[in-house]
Amino acid sequence: MRFDVLTLFPEMIETHCKYSILKRAVDAGIIAVNTINPRDFTLDKHRKVDDTPYGGGAGMVLMAQPYVDAYESIEKLDNSITIMLSPQGEPLKENLVKDLANFDQIICLCGHYEGFDERIRDVIKPKEISIGDFVLTGGELPALCVIDAVSRKIEGTLGKIESAQDDSFSDGLLEYPQYTKPREYRGLKVPEVLLNGNHKEINEFRQNQRILRTKIKRPDLLN
Ligand code: SAM
Repeated sequence: MRFDVLTLFPEMIETHCKYSILKRAVDAGIIAVNTINPRDFTLDKHRKVDDTPYGGGAGMVLMAQPYVDAYESIEKLDNSITIMLSPQGEPLKENLVKDLANFDQIICLCGHYEGFDERIRDVIKPKEISIGDFVLTGGELPALCVIDAVSRKIEGTLGKIESAQDDSFSDGLLEYPQYTKPREYRGLKVPEVLLNGNHKEINEFRQNQRILRTKIKRPDLLN
């Protein structure tokens, strides 16, 4: 999977991908993360990427020319999708993450300030994706959410592919409670069933816990 991220702050993306599981996936060649800075595509000597909004109002709007030129400079693979990180987009949920993982290339457009000149949408026609009903200062954290969540779906990124199978949302339920050593901590004991080695009983316990937790914490998922 190749991610190409259009951003005014490439270090935000690059730094995150230098750690932990994403770093391993990059080093193993399972994913590649490239950044493209629209500022490198400006035509004026001040390298201006934003300007005041027509019609008035607060803040600065990202100009179409540097973004579109930066976008057009990217080599597109056959099986590629372009997404725009935007609070106005489709909410990022497990099914959307799974769909995105089927592409070979995801091009991410990160906004900043007041957002994009509308003509960036008109020309590029991206799929807009939101990470929730709130507004952040920029699209880099949302892009990293997409990169991280999609990368987990690609075989080889996680140590064992099974380690994602029981995760919350994988089949619509939340995950069961997990315990590790020691057996007792501050008087709190690991449930006996997890210690007896009977895998049928362990599976039953975990499945019941998944249903119970989902009922309590996210009853909307059961609908
Ligand atoms: N004025 C825009 C609006 O009200 O729709 C919000 C602009 S926001 C301050 C700047 C950038 O942050 C956006 O262009 C987008 O890339 C990103 N962003 C902010 N909140 C987001 C969210 N919930 N999901 C995805 N991207 C978001």
